[in-house]
Amino acid sequence: MRIKNKAVKTAFLFILTASLVLALSACSKSSSGTTGGVRRTEVLLDTVVTITLLDGDEEDLDAVFDYLETEGNRLDRYSDSEISELSTTPTVLSDDVFTLLSDSKAFSDTSGDAFDPVLGALADVWQIQEPEVREAPSVDTVAEALTHSGNSLLMLNEDTKEAWLTDEAAGVDLGASAKGYLGDLATEFLKERGVNQALLSLGGNIVAIGDKNGNGYLVGVENPFDQSQDPIAVLTLSDKSAVTSGDYQRYFEDAEGNRYHHILDPKTGYPADSGLSQVVVVADSSEEADMLSTALFVMGKDKAIDFMKTYDPNHEIGLIFTEKDGTVSVSDNLKDIFEMNTSDTDTFSFQFFSLS
Ligand code: ADP
Ligand code: MG
Repeated sequence: MRIKNKAVKTAFLFILTASLVLALSACSKSSSGTTGGVRRTEVLLDTVVTITLLDGDEEDLDAVFDYLETEGNRLDRYSDSEISELSTTPTVLSDDVFTLLSDSKAFSDTSGDAFDPVLGALADVWQIQEPEVREAPSVDTVAEALTHSGNSLLMLNEDTKEAWLTDEAAGVDLGASAKGYLGDLATEFLKERGVNQALLSLGGNIVAIGDKNGNGYLVGVENPFDQSQDPIAVLTLSDKSAVTSGDYQRYFEDAEGNRYHHILDPKTGYPADSGLSQVVVVADSSEEADMLSTALFVMGKDKAIDFMKTYDPNHEIGLIFTEKDGTVSVSDNLKDIFEMNTSDTDTFSFQFFSLS
């Protein structure tokens, strides 16, 4: 994957500042007893990737960054990839690409199409990459793109591993699941090299591998209204992934100051307007957390909570919803690892909710 232009790069370096502060505080607070550790940040996967290895070295870092670049390119619709070459002719895909496509299609059905991997045509007309001022596409342009979008346009043959689209103008966009999937792949890759204590941040998708000698990693929940402020809460994570979807991560504004962010409602073709500003999902699988955070953002808090009661009957997945009015709702299964961090009670109010 590549950063498409300098402005995008600058925007993501801004995001980097916020996440790095968190990663650094995570390390300094509980680094006692560790011998060294290495960290590196690179612009990769169209975002900023920071990897900290507590029991790895520079060679492991070289290897895992190379691995992420290669795997990332294979899932990117803007690279020369199996994904970008999907057409109306059935093509046999590599196993891992097929798996992610098939997981994404299945989850799309489960989510009632709140999550949709066949939004390429819509993503092309919106082109949401960077904070800039420009006009939104016309209603007709969005309506036309919507007719070439939708999970049902993607066909998969599980036996032959073939995939194809039934509409020439449709395109697969794995932007809402690929980074999570890559987080899981990188975890396996590192473990195979003997690295068992690490913290990965793939553009804000966090994966905590192992722990810090018995302590969890401290990971901040970004302030969705102002990322230059301290995190609004801190999660203590061991062997878990925390993935965030927010309306502040990628967006542009029109001349009147209306904000158009990058999480699209597949039913309307417009940025999801569900009353939420941010969703954080804490789960064992980063791929699942990534797909869920996007889908739950589209659904809005009430529908999302109803959905999760059925989807996750054992309440293993942690959820944080921040609404546009500053209400932060935290699932009670996070009680032991969630700590509020803001004194700004004028802006934020916190409450726990039960999933049962
Ligand atoms: P990020 O990529 O910033 O981590 P998300 O995981 O929420 O955020 O994914 C948003 C990206 O996924 C968009 O940039 C777009 O490529 C794609 N996308 C947007 N809306 C949806 C949706 N409803 N379902 C699936 N993919 C989406
Ligand atoms: Mg996502």
